[in-house]
Amino acid sequence: MLSSGIKHELTWIIGVLSVFLAFVWLTGWWYFTLASFVVFYVGRHLWSMAKFESWIQGGSIEAHPPSSGLWSELSYQVSKKQRALEKHADLNFYKSEQFKAASMLLPSAVVSIDQRNYIEWLNEPAMNMLGILRQDVGRRIEAVIRHPDFLDYLKSHDYESSQTISLDQSRVFEIKIIEYFENHKLLIATDITELYQLAQIRRDFVANASHELRTPLTVLHGYLELMRDMPHEGHWDTPLEHMHNQTLRMRAIIDDLLTLSSIEADSITAELEEVDVPSMMQHLHIEAAQLAKPEHHLVFEVDACLALKGFTEPLKSVFMNLISNAIRYSPDGGEIKVRWYQDEQGAHFSVSDQGLGVAPEHIPRLTERFYRVNKDRSRTTGGTGLGLAIVKHVLEKHDSHLQVSSVLGKGSTFYCRFAPARVILLNDFE
Ligand code: ADP
Repeated sequence: MLSSGIKHELTWIIGVLSVFLAFVWLTGWWYFTLASFVVFYVGRHLWSMAKFESWIQGGSIEAHPPSSGLWSELSYQVSKKQRALEKHADLNFYKSEQFKAASMLLPSAVVSIDQRNYIEWLNEPAMNMLGILRQDVGRRIEAVIRHPDFLDYLKSHDYESSQTISLDQSRVFEIKIIEYFENHKLLIATDITELYQLAQIRRDFVANASHELRTPLTVLHGYLELMRDMPHEGHWDTPLEHMHNQTLRMRAIIDDLLTLSSIEADSITAELEEVDVPSMMQHLHIEAAQLAKPEHHLVFEVDACLALKGFTEPLKSVFMNLISNAIRYSPDGGEIKVRWYQDEQGAHFSVSDQGLGVAPEHIPRLTERFYRVNKDRSRTTGGTGLGLAIVKHVLEKHDSHLQVSSVLGKGSTFYCRFAPARVILLNDFE
């Protein structure tokens, strides 16, 4: 079987020879034509050879070889071989003694696993931290680390992010998988117990402080209401009203802080529920209508069969936060469209408004706690600055995230998607 380069070359020779023979037939100049052909043929190869030489000396082997015909095929084969060698060099590096010696010094656990998830090699910290034994080399990693979150992460083949797992009650690890050569994987585990505990202390502090503030605030609020209703001098009207409103605001902030703490704390272990989103939407429509002004036009497009595996109350607060934001940040009214629908990508929730919109530089920071685009406006609209932080955390618990598209002065769409595995079709159960 002739290679494509040789075939190309033969076709070329036959083509050029036919032209020269035609020339001989017409002119009868045999010697001149033959000499021209040989000079032309050899010259062409010398030129291609020079190009090939400069290409190969150039350092980087480009994807597209520079010439055509036999030389093009040759260049292509060389660059293909080079790429294969690079891949093997990758694999050999991870298998090399040098890499293993360096990995031994790392504070993180490193385990190398093959295409079928069999353990090939591990370093000392992997034994101490993850409890893997030397004898486990050659066993499947799933049989050694059986934590359900790790198994889901491994199966997902989505290794962009890392996975946090607590292997025993006391230690917390961040596990990251890196694919390096034809589905060989490096598993790297870092002990983040201290960081986790610090975050826990912060969470507990915020939760406890909020809880402790609640009672004195309720007392203050009660007295202020009493004072407002009791006979008093007229010039106290405004300060009393002001103080009363501020206690309401503080209560809203404390409630949101407590909600955030509870989302962060318990829902990981809570049982998933069947969330009847269509009937939730009916209630939200009524609540939204009470918040909206006559200039607002509320439109709800809801798939009546589409329910979700998730956590009912947190999801309700996500949807209500987004709807109430759309109303509050559309001071001049306009259409507010709420959509709940499904397709092959899962279930989708979106809220679009024609309100103030958000400038692009603010969008990535909207879900930070107490981040406000315009502090004054947020205060006057009764915002706590925590609504979208709550939304972000609840969505994370549902393996989803918030997406925002917005044009300043024109309006915004806040959107999230839930994976098909979470979708429940209500008709299926009837
Ligand atoms: P807030 O209680 O201040 O509304 P959020 O966390 O709910 O806090 O929102 C954070 C910020 O995002 C708001 O201060 C506001 O500037 C902006 N924002 C949220 N939703 C919208 C929207 N639909 N249109 C314009 N801006 C919005």
